[in-house]
Amino acid sequence: MSLNIKFWGVRGSLPSSPAPTDWTNHIEGILRNFFSSGYSDISQVSKFIQKAEIPLLGGYGAATTCVEVHTARCQLIIDGGSGIRNLSESLMSGTTGRTKGPFHILMTHFHWDHVIGLPFFVPHFIPGSEVHYYGVQSDLEQLIRGIFRRPYFPVPFEELKARVYFHVLEPRKPVKIEDFTVTPYLLDHPDPCWGYKIQSQGKTYAHCVDTEGTRVTALELGDDLPLYQGVDLMYFDAQYTLPELAEKANWGHSAAQVGLDIALREEIGQVLFAHHDPGARIEQVQELKRQTREYYESRQRFAADRNQTLPAVSWDFAYEGLEIKL
Ligand SMILES: [Zn+2]
Ligand SMILES: [Zn+2]
Repeated sequence: MSLNIKFWGVRGSLPSSPAPTDWTNHIEGILRNFFSSGYSDISQVSKFIQKAEIPLLGGYGAATTCVEVHTARCQLIIDGGSGIRNLSESLMSGTTGRTKGPFHILMTHFHWDHVIGLPFFVPHFIPGSEVHYYGVQSDLEQLIRGIFRRPYFPVPFEELKARVYFHVLEPRKPVKIEDFTVTPYLLDHPDPCWGYKIQSQGKTYAHCVDTEGTRVTALELGDDLPLYQGVDLMYFDAQYTLPELAEKANWGHSAAQVGLDIALREEIGQVLFAHHDPGARIEQVQELKRQTREYYESRQRFAADRNQTLPAVSWDFAYEGLEIKL
């Protein structure tokens, strides 16, 4: 049995897709690339596409934060950004055999980009289905009820057909939810935001979005250090470049280099960066990737020059629809 993580929404702040004219220019670039790579025939299109990196063709996605963590038997959902709509469609298609749940939704915080999709999670409207919300916020129930309220949404909470339950979590205290052990830790974000350490099948996933990563050293992280320890995959906020991070202090988002520093120290084998800026197009995320590679290689070189070894970290920028098996 494996622990699987699927990223249904990786955009930050606001759902955002390039404008039609930007897509048209992008498609022109792909077509030019097809012919300049030596292909010339329609029968070669599939081969060309299979060889390409998915986000270089299709982009990183428009939907905001929603991550599914699942085993063969059960599932957790982290946040209800606009990505939860596609997850909901997939659940309702019947292929999972779980149209009535119970569904377990962990809330990190309540900024718009993490709640905007919740009213479109169809199980809320199905008689007999069961939806459980979890969060550290003591007013969790009022916060969720407030999302289903006129005139922002036409169906008030009282008219939902599902049985909805609320579970207020204690900071840093593990809880068992079906196959998972879930522990909330504080991130560096306004209002605030709670990350989750999720353990199952002998594997550990650390969800660290949204965070500015202002605390990096073990001493600074203090009681929240365990979020980053013994982790197989860390999902980390990398909305900004390093100079942008300096300009946007206290905005609550980070840069990939900060996540890499933590990963190298804590020997985290795999890192995915996300919360892509709503204005970031494919080329900009690729530029973040180039800067991250430069930083990673310089850290490795610096260590090698001093006869030290740093652990290898496999890292990338997440795109919508990406699925990882641990
Ligand atoms: Zn966010
Ligand atoms: Zn936020």
